[in-house]
Amino acid sequence: MLIRNAEIGIARARLVDLRIADGRIAAIAAHLQPRPGETVIDAGGAALLPSLHDHHLHLQSFAAAQDSLACGPPQLRDAESLQQALHRRHAELGAGEWLRGVGYHESVAGDIDRDWLDRCGPARPLRIQHRSGRLWIMNSPALTALGVDNGGDVPLERDARGRYTGRLYDADDWLRARRPRTQPSLWAISRRLAAHGVTGVTDTTPDNGPETLQRFESAIAEGGLLQDVLMMGDARLDQHIGGSGAVRRGAHKFHLHDADLPDFDALCAAIRRSHVAGRGTAFHCVSRTDLTFALAALTEAGVTPSDRIEHAGVTPPDLLGWMRELGVAVVSQPGFIAERGDAYLTDVDVDERIWLYRLRAFLDAGVTLAGSTDAPFGDANPWKAMQAAVTRRTERGVVLGAEECLSPEQALDLFLMPADLSERVVRRVQAGAAADLCLLDRPWRQARESLHTVMPRMTFKRGLLIAGLG
Ligand SMILES: [Zn+2]
Repeated sequence: MLIRNAEIGIARARLVDLRIADGRIAAIAAHLQPRPGETVIDAGGAALLPSLHDHHLHLQSFAAAQDSLACGPPQLRDAESLQQALHRRHAELGAGEWLRGVGYHESVAGDIDRDWLDRCGPARPLRIQHRSGRLWIMNSPALTALGVDNGGDVPLERDARGRYTGRLYDADDWLRARRPRTQPSLWAISRRLAAHGVTGVTDTTPDNGPETLQRFESAIAEGGLLQDVLMMGDARLDQHIGGSGAVRRGAHKFHLHDADLPDFDALCAAIRRSHVAGRGTAFHCVSRTDLTFALAALTEAGVTPSDRIEHAGVTPPDLLGWMRELGVAVVSQPGFIAERGDAYLTDVDVDERIWLYRLRAFLDAGVTLAGSTDAPFGDANPWKAMQAAVTRRTERGVVLGAEECLSPEQALDLFLMPADLSERVVRRVQAGAAADLCLLDRPWRQARESLHTVMPRMTFKRGLLIAGLG
């Protein structure tokens, strides 16, 4: 295949012809002659970039969210609209079907519980996930359907009188065992990611195990999942070596939460075991306390180039210095500033706001930084996340942490980092490289002005067109 008139090289852009053969970039030159029968694509001067890698998302939750009602901003902003949406959805569902909501945030209707849902929602099993992904809120019919309305040893929150509030924290395993759900197809979300130019993802779900790895491998083999996957998961994957190549085993993921931190020595032992198994570790760190705990554990257990911090939601200077010393990478979600920034402005202490989801500071300190969307907990469009990294503008237009703004080129590079961050080198369009490519709809000098409006024309993985019209 020959792509003609493509703009490559961001800093010093030039128009070239580029040949793809056997899944690789075979040649790049000012002019290449088409071979007999060769497919020729005219890029018309548009930018040809390496395809993107989303370094932190959750494929299965993303697929499930497609069938769910959005229960938070920007779709819904107040109690009344939530109530209406729940009843509208109720009318569309069959008898006995569960109504599943996602993306709830307390700015909509406060700390809602079973009683609120019973009062305001429809009379069918109903569960709503908080946008943090850690909390499910269920109504009474849902508790009945789960068989837990009569008490017993269940992880549901109770009120002062011992009655279930319908709120269930960090108990996806328990919920899944009670209510095995039919696995949603990955096809639609995979196509959507491909349309954004994404050919690789890191699935960072902490309870991924061998069966999920198997599932992703089958989906790829059957053509239902187009992306390469680096799959994080729990300790079970320490024993799991190999894989088809399309799904690679990723880090041992620890979901730290400052209100309920794990035993420090046990955490260090688990880190050591994963390291011995040739595996990195990754830590969900939203608060300052989470991050301090993770860095202390890595300092104690030892650090490898594959260890990483997810989110780094609050990073004061002393912790930044510690991260640099340890050499851990950071995977940030720049889109959160746009999507959640207005909530941060009310929820986060003034003195901590300048340390929220920092970007520039990590680059300046020489800390390896990669970008992600955290779909479905953030918007899955990486171009929107890039734009947020450039503007740091909240929905209401407030600039949050202006010092942390990146240039459009730096923002792009966050998604051009290799899946394995220990390699630490940004991918570029060059002869010999894998033909994982993304042809934009415009030259880079136009794209950089409004990254959020970029719509890739075509996406190639190993030279095969996986999105766009050939
Ligand atoms: Zn996540």
